[in-house]
Amino acid sequence: MSANPLLSIEGLTASVDEKTILHNVNLNVAAGETHVLMGPNGAGKSTLGHLVMGDPVYTVNDGRIVFDGQDITELTTDKRSRAGLFLSFQAPVEIPGVPLSSFLRASIAGRPGLEMKGKEFRRRVKELAAELNMDTAYLNRELGVGFSGGEKKKVEMLQLLLLQPKLAILDETDSGLDVDALSTVSHGMDAYRKSCDGSMLIITHNTRILEHLDVDRVHVMVKGHIVREDDASLIPWIDKNGFETFEREAAEQRTQAEAAAVEQQA
Ligand code: ADP
Ligand code: MG
Repeated sequence: MSANPLLSIEGLTASVDEKTILHNVNLNVAAGETHVLMGPNGAGKSTLGHLVMGDPVYTVNDGRIVFDGQDITELTTDKRSRAGLFLSFQAPVEIPGVPLSSFLRASIAGRPGLEMKGKEFRRRVKELAAELNMDTAYLNRELGVGFSGGEKKKVEMLQLLLLQPKLAILDETDSGLDVDALSTVSHGMDAYRKSCDGSMLIITHNTRILEHLDVDRVHVMVKGHIVREDDASLIPWIDKNGFETFEREAAEQRTQAEAAAVEQQA
């Protein structure tokens, strides 16, 4: 881990509708590294991804998010995106009336280093579609409308390869995919890593997608707390044992903390 991580989440406590979801979360990702955030359903993994991207639904109560040397805690989502952050959604959007190619064109508009002429853009997108084994007919269809789960994921990978962000947060990019689509996503992640030495924070509760990836660090979240951090050896362990151990440990720690609080009052 380098002294100055690309992404540094420092003591982040955050809530939605007065309900605290994340508690004092610390997480660092260095440039070029691949990290995994795992944990049971409802742990707060997607919430963390949305907070890093600046989703206004969530309130930061304490702590800060630093990206590429800049405190981005108060920045709007588009500024974070321009700074080099990318978040793929667990449930990708549909935009009726907007062809996929127009959407992709708009997403690179005004970005230094990414602007290209129409002809060059079409060639580049076709190249990437071929790389992802994606039917180019999709480029002229309305974004997401009638796309299968697998096709939506391919669109995300296409966007990732086109934008080449410094850090890609991929939220359950593997959920509900058949074997073919899964291999497309793996291939897309690999192509992204190789093309720009980008960093990844992969959110998942499924270890399948991680088999072909060189993972540097694994973070486990339970009930809004990071409860464990380790190297890639934690993945096969979780595969075998699930999250029960972490959940039990977290519950025991809560009980102990409550007991200590009661003792202090007495
Ligand atoms: P995970 O991605 O780990 O499954 P989430 O981050 O989606 O977990 O959710 C964590 C908790 O926060 C859940 O209890 C969920 O209901 C709650 N939560 C997340 N987003 C919202 C929201 N926009 N409004 C209300 N509650 C939310
Ligand atoms: Mg989620």
